[in-house]
Order: sequence, then structure tokens, then C-alpha cells
Amino acid sequence: MPRSHICPSCLTELARIRAVPDRHYRLPIVICPKCKLACVRTKHPDQVFWREIRQLLRSVRLLTITILITLLAGGTLAGMSVAMEPVFTDNRGNFLEPSSIDLDDTYFLLAAICFVLLGSGAVRVAYAHQRLWTAWLILMIPSTVFVSFDWLVGWGMNHIKKMMNISPNLEIPSTPEMLGRSKMFLLLTIVASIGMILGVFLNRMIQTCSRKRVSKIRRKIKKRQVKQY
Ligand SMILES: [Zn+2]
Repeated sequence: MPRSHICPSCLTELARIRAVPDRHYRLPIVICPKCKLACVRTKHPDQVFWREIRQLLRSVRLLTITILITLLAGGTLAGMSVAMEPVFTDNRGNFLEPSSIDLDDTYFLLAAICFVLLGSGAVRVAYAHQRLWTAWLILMIPSTVFVSFDWLVGWGMNHIKKMMNISPNLEIPSTPEMLGRSKMFLLLTIVASIGMILGVFLNRMIQTCSRKRVSKIRRKIKKRQVKQY
């Protein structure tokens, strides 16, 4: 049932009359059928409150999705760097001779590149309102943390153990391993940057599609208004 809306001039109930946005200010206007007085339909404070709550929930949901995309892309970049490290570097952390790399790993490399391209492109779309540089930095921060996570945790735990006089016996990734990882990470960072640039094009495509949809809806509303006037 519509909320009561009384004409301030002749006290006619206007609730059942549909409000039409006026051409100039876009205010929802109702014209009283009896006295022809034009009045603006206002929202009840309760309605405003719930609308704000819904908007807040939608923002929280969007933020959660954006954070999830960032973490997933960061995790992919870091995971691929760690996984590719023993394939492309030796136990001293140096790059292997091209002849000694197993050719069966070509598919693995291609899959890794695809994953990283996809992930970084998704991050670019999720942070479309930010500059390219900012979005790149947003992806790099969790990736760097994930790549060095076990090293950071091991280092911290060893410090705590030393302080408490317990002999440290934790397995921390060795320096050559971390060197190999950082080399692979650097290579994949270049791939991620290309993915971000591709994401710019993807975002443009999405924007064009949504603009077309908005103008279609706008045309429909206009047609309906012309009919009502
Ligand atoms: Zn009236």
C-alpha cells in the first residue's frame, strides 16, 4: 500500500498518483487532479534510513569482492613465482642454462603466464577508479608479502625463540631459494604489468557496454514520461 500523500491545498489523497520527475530539476512531482497544485513527493525518514543501510551493505559487498580479487591475484602471482623457482633456477639461485630446462614445463610456464595475466587484468578492472600506477602497487603489496611470507614468519619465530632461549630449529627458505624466488617474481611482475595494461582495454569495453545500457534505460524512461504528460 502506498504511503499517504495529502494535497496541502485541498487535502485530496495523492498517494495513488504516480510521481513524475520534472524536466528541469528531476524532482518527483505530483499534480493534484482537483486543484492542479504541483507538489513534490518526499521520502519518509524511515525509507531514507533503509535506503542508506542498503547502500552501505552494497558498498561493503563491493569492498569484500575487491579485496578478494586483490588477494587472489596477489596469491596467484606469488604462488607462480614460488612454483617456477625450482624449474628455472639452480640451487645457488642462478638462472638455469636454457638447454637444461625441461621442455615438459613449457605448458606450465604458459599456464602460469595466463593465470598472472588474468589476475592482474581483474585487479585493473576492480580498481578502475584508481590510476594504473596505484592499482599496480595495490597488487604488488600482497604479492610481495605472499612471496616472502614463510621467510618472514620463520625469521620472526626464530627471533622470538632466541629471546626466550629456545634453540631455533625452524625451516626457513635459504638465501639462494629466496634469490631464485625474487628473480621469478620479477619476471612475473613484468607479465602482471602487461596484464594490467590489457585490463585497461577490458575495462573500456565494460564501460562502453554499460553506457549503452544506461542510454537505453534513459530512452525508455523518457518515452514513459512523454506518455504521462
Ligand atoms: Zn489539491
